[in-house]
Amino acid sequence: MEKTCLLEYTREALTALMADLGHKAFRAAQVLDWIWKHRATDFAQMSNLPPALREQLAERFSLRPLTVVEVSNSTTGSTRKFLSRMAADGHLVESVIIPAAEGKAGSRSDRITLCVSSQVGCAFGCKFCASGLLGLTRNLTASEILGQILAAEEISGTRVDNLVFMGMGEPLANMDNLLLALTQIMSPDALNIGARHITISTSGNVPGLRRLAEFGKPLRLAVSLHGASDEVRSQVMPVNRKWPLGELLPALEAWNRTGKHMITLEYILIEGVNAMMTEATKLARVARRLNAKVNLIPYNTVEGLPWVRPSESNCRAFAKALSTAGVPVTMRYEKGHDINAACGQLRLRRKNEQEDI
Ligand code: SF4
Repeated sequence: MEKTCLLEYTREALTALMADLGHKAFRAAQVLDWIWKHRATDFAQMSNLPPALREQLAERFSLRPLTVVEVSNSTTGSTRKFLSRMAADGHLVESVIIPAAEGKAGSRSDRITLCVSSQVGCAFGCKFCASGLLGLTRNLTASEILGQILAAEEISGTRVDNLVFMGMGEPLANMDNLLLALTQIMSPDALNIGARHITISTSGNVPGLRRLAEFGKPLRLAVSLHGASDEVRSQVMPVNRKWPLGELLPALEAWNRTGKHMITLEYILIEGVNAMMTEATKLARVARRLNAKVNLIPYNTVEGLPWVRPSESNCRAFAKALSTAGVPVTMRYEKGHDINAACGQLRLRRKNEQEDI
C-alpha cells in the first residue's frame, strides 16, 4: 500500500488522525513537534510516543515524500540546483537554492531563497521554457512541495526564509495542493514562513488568480507577461489564447483591489520578438494600469529553442524607456545560468540522458 506523507497534515488533520487511531489529541502536538521542530525522518525517532502509535504511523505514513538524487553547484556563485525523485512513482522534479546577496563588508548572509516546483512537467507550454517541452505529467502533492523545502534545508544546513514558486509547473493549475502547502508553509506549527516572503509566479491562469485572491493572504505575485499585446504575448505564451489580456488584466486589477503587494510583471527580452521600443511603450501602459513593477530578464538560451538574447544596449534602452515612463523596473540576469537554472532544464537534460540509454 502506498504510504501517505504526513508533511501535509495540519494540526486539525493530525488531531482527527489520532482520534481515528484511538489516541489522545495531545499526541498530535507531539507528532507536529517531531516533524517540524526536530525534523524527524523516521517514526522510530519519536521517543515520547507509545511504541504502538509509532508502529501504526510507520505502517501507513511516511515522513519524506522524495529523495534528492543530484545536486549541481554553480561555478560562478553559490546557487545550487537539486533534482528529487518522488517516492510515490519515481518522477523527477527540480528546485533551486539561491543565497541572499552577500552581506555588508563581504560577510555572507545565511538567508536562502528556494525556488520550488509545483508540478511534474507543465501543460502551459510557454515557448521559452524547457518544462513546457515535456507537457504535464501530474500535479505535485502538498507534501511533495513541502518536501522540497525540507530537502533544501538539509542540503544547505540553513533555514529557507524566502520561497518562490517559479520552478517546474504552473502553481495556479494545482490549486488544492498549492493552498494546502501554503497553509503548512505559513503555519506556526510547521514552517512558519510569512506570506510576504512567498512569491507565486503564474503564467496568467485567470481562475487560479481569482481563487488565490479569495485565499486572502498577502502573498507576492509575479506574472509572466512577456508581451504587452495579445499578438506578441500569444507568440511567447500559448496560455494567452485561453486567457487573453482582456481577461488577465481585469483579474490582476481585482487582485490589486484586495490590497496585496505591488504585482511584478516578468518580461523576458527576446530579440526581434518583444524587445522593440514599440513594445516598451505598450508594456509601460500595462504596468501603469496595474501599478506594477517590471522585471526584465534578458533571454537565457535554452538548448533546442530558437530565440536569441538581445544586445546589452538594447536591454538597457528598453529598461530606460520604462523608467522614463514612470514604471519601476529591474533587470535580472538569471542566477545559476551555468547550471541550467532556467525552469525545467536540469530535468530535461536528465530525461534526455535517460532516453539516450
Ligand atoms: S514557464 Fe512555468 S507555466 Fe510556462 S511552461 Fe514553464 S513551467 Fe509552465
